[in-house]
Amino acid sequence: MPQTRVAVAGAGIAGLTFAAALHRAGIDCHLYEQAEHLTEVGAGVQVAPNATRLLHRLGLRDRLRSVAVAPQAIEMRRWDDGRLLQRTPLGNLCRRRFGVPYYAVHRADLHSSLLSLVPPDRVHLGARLDAVTQDADEARLHLSDGTTVTADLVVGADGIHSIAREHIVADRPQYSGQTIYRGLVPAERVPFLLTEPRVQLWFGPDQHCVCYPVSSGRQVSFGATVSASDWREESWSARGDVAQLAAAYAGWHPDVARLIGAAETVGRWALHDRESTDRLSSGRVTVIGDAAHPMLPFQAQGANQAIEDAVVLAACLADAGPGGLSTALRRYERIRLPRTTLIQRRSRDNAKTFHLADGDAQRRRDTSAQGSSGLDRHEWLFGYDAEQAITYDAEQAITTSRSS
Ligand SMILES: Cc1cc2nc3c(=O)[nH]c(=O)nc-3n(C[C@H](O)[C@H](O)[C@H](O)COP(=O)(O)OP(=O)(O)OC[C@H]3O[C@@H](n4cnc5c(N)ncnc54)[C@H](O)[C@@H]3O)c2cc1C
Repeated sequence: MPQTRVAVAGAGIAGLTFAAALHRAGIDCHLYEQAEHLTEVGAGVQVAPNATRLLHRLGLRDRLRSVAVAPQAIEMRRWDDGRLLQRTPLGNLCRRRFGVPYYAVHRADLHSSLLSLVPPDRVHLGARLDAVTQDADEARLHLSDGTTVTADLVVGADGIHSIAREHIVADRPQYSGQTIYRGLVPAERVPFLLTEPRVQLWFGPDQHCVCYPVSSGRQVSFGATVSASDWREESWSARGDVAQLAAAYAGWHPDVARLIGAAETVGRWALHDRESTDRLSSGRVTVIGDAAHPMLPFQAQGANQAIEDAVVLAACLADAGPGGLSTALRRYERIRLPRTTLIQRRSRDNAKTFHLADGDAQRRRDTSAQGSSGLDRHEWLFGYDAEQAITYDAEQAITTSRSS
């Protein structure tokens, strides 16, 4: 449906990827972003092969290679003595198996790479969505400056507190009881972490710490969770207290203590998610990314799933015939929901398994981790090709219509 007028709320990873994928398909769209300036803050984000392959096809192969780091492995360690519990090899093994790298990237680099794919006059800044309305003929974005934008389709890419989602599901974000402190440290302050580029995690009672190099190896990004805090703010720019964080990790492995000690500032983020939903659209309104399925970051897949959503929705719209909007939205939902629901659930499961107190359950976890170190168990996640899923869905639809 190349004539469709599409209005997107939010120019984060989901909104920009969607706009880039639509632009590639020759469909025009406009993005309405509340921020006055697109200076993406935050620390690192892991981009797994399931998203890397889509970003490469959008034209970001060279750009990612120049700004990201391809870790050689993901290592899980014990909190106190640093004993290795599991090593998942990445590097060339990952490239050979999945055809593309696993990347660790600064959010700002990913964001600006995506932004480079979208015509600048299609991104409207300082445009805050207050409400969405629709009737049979059109959907509308009501912005806080009083402007109303009409469109054939409204896409909510407006994150966990999505206004567009209110139009589809009656629910609220749920606090996980966890706060995450995030920081960036210059690489020269933590050379002991960089003998090999790796994603390292230390698991301990009630909390865990993760770190990896970003910005072509110039910085190390880390996230350290702390449980049972009554802090509820979600913002990439909310500040935390390094001394408080260091106190929460007292007694942990010296590498963790030295990493936290090397940070001058930390951001602080209260972790929320939502229950998964059984619908992603209502009439002419749909949602992608965190607006559709906010998840805890314990599988490092939120942004990856946002990228998958964006590419699939754009392809469903591009494939739809005249008047095919509702068919396209049903197809998007059918392809995406089973996968994102599973990943949301597994991210919650990891919140428990990462944070086990020392004891029987922790020993069972560690024994099973040691027995499953290869890439096989990641095939379903990293091997998934969202664009093939669209083709597969189309083939299924043909088979079903022939047999009925
Ligand atoms: C600590 C932490 C670590 C993470 N690590 C990873 C990782 O390693 N790998 C991974 O894949 N994912 C990770 N994630 C998840 C990932 O950050 C999110 O899933 C991803 O940012 C979702 O992108 P989005 O575009 O859907 O939403 P957002 O990034 O929230 O973007 C939403 C955009 O919409 C705008 N907006 C919001 N409301 C309005 C409005 N009313 N009007 C107009 N604009 C609006 C916002 O300003 C923003 O630009 C992590 C998350 C956290 C919290």
